[in-house]
Amino acid sequence: MQLLEYHAKDLLKNSSITVPNGIVLHPNQTYQPEVFPVILKSQVPIGGRGKLGGVKLVANRFEFTQTLAQVFKLPIKGYLPESVLVESVIDIEHEYYLALRIDRDERRVDYLASKNGGIQIETNNEPVKQIPLHDPMRFALVANELQVHTDLVTPLMTSLEEAFISNDCLLLEINPLVLTKQGRLVAADAKLLIDDNAQFRHDNLPWKESSGLKPLGGTIGVIANGAGMAMSTMDTIYAAGGKPANFLDIGGGTGEQVFLKYLESITDLPNVTSIIINIFAGITRCDEIAKGIIAAKQRVNNLPPLYIRLEGTNRAEAAALLSAAGIPMEHSLRSCVEKAMRSI
Ligand code: GDP
Ligand code: MN
Repeated sequence: MQLLEYHAKDLLKNSSITVPNGIVLHPNQTYQPEVFPVILKSQVPIGGRGKLGGVKLVANRFEFTQTLAQVFKLPIKGYLPESVLVESVIDIEHEYYLALRIDRDERRVDYLASKNGGIQIETNNEPVKQIPLHDPMRFALVANELQVHTDLVTPLMTSLEEAFISNDCLLLEINPLVLTKQGRLVAADAKLLIDDNAQFRHDNLPWKESSGLKPLGGTIGVIANGAGMAMSTMDTIYAAGGKPANFLDIGGGTGEQVFLKYLESITDLPNVTSIIINIFAGITRCDEIAKGIIAAKQRVNNLPPLYIRLEGTNRAEAAALLSAAGIPMEHSLRSCVEKAMRSI
């Protein structure tokens, strides 16, 4: 599971790592910072927000409310933030990259360190330095890589190691690790991936059942069973000139209630103009899917047009249920895609 930045920073703070002062806001919460400027950061489970407008500097209180509303409304790679982090601004002297991660092939934990951190690092071709956690010289080696004094990084690294192990991390990434003008190291951003197998040791974390839904930022929602079906549905959409709003493989055996939840989650994605349901039922039963669709028509607000292709187990029962409810079914994926393209 990947934690949101504010949550990751809370855990780092518990391990004595310095993070900027901040407060988390949910939509419609009223708040006015006392000191400006502040930084607003969209809390989405994805990196690269800086370049996409998800990190905004607010200079004074007159701009605060409007910029906050903008950040809440701006989807980042298909994710709308459920919260925004408001942080005090730090004076940046330099931005480094520092991470700890499990290297499965080498069966060890490594530091990844680079002198050049921040938003450029993804496009930067310089390889980051790998330094094994078990190396007794690691403090000096990381300091050398970052070109800072060993005494400056040693306490931070000791705390990072404690945080990495006590939280069962797969990855703990600080980018940027900021050297402030006052000479302190501050974690300005944090990404923590927690091992799902360690859930039983961390009751306090916000574990969610993984839905398998991956937002892609397009307009046509996709529900299919089997990864192959989902991918060929997406390929057909792309071939027609459209863009899928998501990837979703509902797997086998999905019942009415779970299916309804999937329809709700796709409807909640930004910019969805229609949803294609492409099911080849084996273990899954078409009549269960049809019941989910009928329930969604009654209960889901703003449900976009649905283009439905159902084949396989209990198709006839599903056709009868849908037809009684006045919901049309398509005879092929192609006709679903053609109609979806017309509703963009
Ligand atoms: P990401 O793009 O999603 O990784 O978001 P980051 O949290 O890393 O922010 C992107 C960039 O915004 C950083 O590399 C910094 O240059 C800048 N930034 C973030 N926080 C601050 C801050 O408090 N002060 C200043 N001056 N810049 C910041
Ligand atoms: Mn970052």
